[in-house]
Amino acid sequence: MVHYGKKVFEMYDLIIIGGGPAGLTAAIYASRYKLKTLVLTKNIGGMAVENPEIENYPGFGKISGGELMVKIGEHAEALGTEIRREQVKSVTKDKETFKIITEYDSEFKSKALIISTGLKRRKLGVKNEDKFKGRGISYCATCDGAFFDSKDVAVIGGGDSAAVATLILSEFAKQVYLIYRRDKFKRMLPAFQEKLGKRRNVKLLFNNRVTELGGDTNLEWAKLSDGTKLKLGGLFVEIGFEPEVPFKTNFELKKDSKGFIDVDKGMKTSEQAVFAAGDITNGSNLFQQIITSASEGAMAANSAYLYLAGGV
Ligand code: NDP
Repeated sequence: MVHYGKKVFEMYDLIIIGGGPAGLTAAIYASRYKLKTLVLTKNIGGMAVENPEIENYPGFGKISGGELMVKIGEHAEALGTEIRREQVKSVTKDKETFKIITEYDSEFKSKALIISTGLKRRKLGVKNEDKFKGRGISYCATCDGAFFDSKDVAVIGGGDSAAVATLILSEFAKQVYLIYRRDKFKRMLPAFQEKLGKRRNVKLLFNNRVTELGGDTNLEWAKLSDGTKLKLGGLFVEIGFEPEVPFKTNFELKKDSKGFIDVDKGMKTSEQAVFAAGDITNGSNLFQQIITSASEGAMAANSAYLYLAGGV
């Protein structure tokens, strides 16, 4: 059961901020180490829940991201992890204790911390993007795809997220344009490229960027760099993610040149007792998969356990 609401001055061995694949797997490992563990998270499962069909998580064949993440969350809770759906506002370190304040002004304390908050969506940066956000522009095809039934829509991007969004939308929309800035895909999985090629209502527009967005109150059209003006009922921005720690701290974490939290092989950060796992780190060669996040979560929990046992 996920908890909400104010709860003050509870002390934990380990607090994990972020309940995606990394955080929830860390919770499984920490709970098996008998650490008193709390997960604080905005939503259960993170961005993995947006993928309707996962085919590369070992042991499951095909499973939706939502179902997989519910199973991982239930697994953690069955082992004793407490999960609270509260967004963290700030973390203050005082000697060897962390104080965490959430959006509901709840206050929690812990001896160690794992940060697994994932990434922030990259925005297009074209004029009127914010004006049409929620009025034709979306950043989540799984969440909003069904609203675009029988419409002409476009997806921007050339990675796996753009592929997944295009495949989802092609189930609902009349026509889906996939707009990519290069002449061929360089990041997209070949399996996705093959699937896209088989969808009759998908049109690939290479060597193109969106230069202008227009409409009255809702998005009605997008102009492309080759001069084409597409009439659109919707536009899905799927151009990747950026690392950003979404809360204040009174300590500095070392980051790499792209802003990912710098971790060692054991997921230790530059700050003692602070570990990080998943997409927000520069571990796993930036291969941002559910399994690599889960693996980093397991290692972070192990390092936290060794630290708390006085070993690191
Ligand atoms: P990626 O960073 O992999 O791809 C982003 C894409 O957007 C690139 O093609 C990039 O172009 C393009 N892009 C970036 N900025 C702009 C811009 N300003 N204007 C136009 N285009 C732009 O991000 P994804 O979200 O696709 O994937 C992130 C990670 O998540 C990857 O590791 C991916 O494998 C993983 N993932 C895996 C899935 C799976 O089912 N296995 C599903 C979804 C994501 P360019 O190519 O020119 O750089």
